Amino acid sequence: MRRRRILSAAALGGLVPFLPGKARAQRLPALSGYRITRWQADPFARGSYSYLARGARLDQRRDLAAPVGQTLFFAGEATNSDHPSTVHGALLSGQRAAREVAGTGARRVAVVGLGAAGLGAAQALAAQGLEVTAFEARDRLGGRVWSDHALGVPVDLGAFWIHGAEGNPLTQLAQETGTRTIEAGFEPFYMFDHRGWTWDEDDVPDAYWDHMTEQSWAADLEDLSADAEEDGIGFGGPDLMLPDGYDLVFRGLQGAYETRLSSPVDEIRYDGLGVALTVGGTVSTFDAAVVTVSLGVLKADAIGFTPPLPAPKRDAIRRLGMGLMNKTVLRFERPFWDTRAGGFGYLAPEIGWFGLWLNLMPVVGAPILVGFNVGREARALETRSDDAQIAEALAVLAHMPRG
Ligand SMILES: Cc1cc2nc3c(=O)[nH]c(=O)nc-3n(C[C@H](O)[C@H](O)[C@H](O)COP(=O)(O)OP(=O)(O)OC[C@H]3O[C@@H](n4cnc5c(N)ncnc54)[C@H](O)[C@@H]3O)c2cc1C
Repeated sequence: MRRRRILSAAALGGLVPFLPGKARAQRLPALSGYRITRWQADPFARGSYSYLARGARLDQRRDLAAPVGQTLFFAGEATNSDHPSTVHGALLSGQRAAREVAGTGARRVAVVGLGAAGLGAAQALAAQGLEVTAFEARDRLGGRVWSDHALGVPVDLGAFWIHGAEGNPLTQLAQETGTRTIEAGFEPFYMFDHRGWTWDEDDVPDAYWDHMTEQSWAADLEDLSADAEEDGIGFGGPDLMLPDGYDLVFRGLQGAYETRLSSPVDEIRYDGLGVALTVGGTVSTFDAAVVTVSLGVLKADAIGFTPPLPAPKRDAIRRLGMGLMNKTVLRFERPFWDTRAGGFGYLAPEIGWFGLWLNLMPVVGAPILVGFNVGREARALETRSDDAQIAEALAVLAHMPRG
């Protein structure tokens, strides 16, 4: 892949050679807490992030981004051709949409959704002196950036990394807001399998590296377009984590606009003169609207558009893919793994099942492991109960090399 992405083989760096040897399944210390995500079932996300699906064209991200007339504008990670599927791509798309609105003479503007794209759009529109009202379906800001504190330390249940620190607007926002960042990832990286064997880099089957591509796009290999590698260019430099919570960078996107939380938009009527938004039976009118909801929400037809969106946009919504990545976050009473490791790869009999683990100990200072599932494995797991998912995760971890 041309860019360093979340979990690509390139991002993993060199595997640490580990002497092959047999280890027994071990008893694990007790869990002191857990968090499990279900991004597919989440009605305001309907997946984790977009990918170029088989049958989709690269230029369809532009079709998704294209304004409809002078009143309806679109932003969100899936609309960004250069930086799709990322937080910074979402932010830049919101700022791009704000520039488009500026050219129309609109005075009163609605923003639908307050994730990175909506926050970027609302701040930029307000900075131009426009009267901005932002509608957010959830009772919190940030969307797919979700910094959770239930385990006693900040753990991000959506995005973890600023991908490519150099020239990245999020790096700048982190600096401006005094948000701590650290270079952290999966290195050093150790592989183990379902028999408790540890693996040397040279022996890791190709199927596992294919699975890393699936991890990057949160999609199954057979669903990815052959052009997926050309999808986006990204920024260079190291990937950064935000140990005190990703959402802290959003403090840099405040502005003089009205925010309405717990306000899901049900319908958007638009014509050449303006837009009318329906929220819980109440209609509000504006000169223009910037829609930033996820591709998954658009696919689900969760917002009714009247008149229907133009055919190229509907085709883009249908053909671009919405991937699924879920995290299983486990806090133990004490660590049992090598806490100097960045991450662990797991070779299941069916490669992909809990195929990747991140050691959060160096990041947040607490004994926490994060298991990643994507695509078919994530879909299969998501419908299971918390207890069932935890049992699966612990069965895998029982084979992890001891520290
Ligand atoms: C598990 C996971 C891991 C990820 N890892 C990374 C990573 O490490 N680095 C990275 O750069 N990116 C990562 N991403 C992707 C990144 O989080 C997204 O690309 C980005 O946050 C999307 O921002 P957005 O503003 O486009 O969409 P969203 O954040 O989804 O914002 C859209 C907003 O619209 C709201 N909304 C939905 N429906 C309605 C409605 N009807 N009315 C009003 N509001 C509505 C939603 O609640 C949401 O707040 C990850 C995502 C996930 C899920």
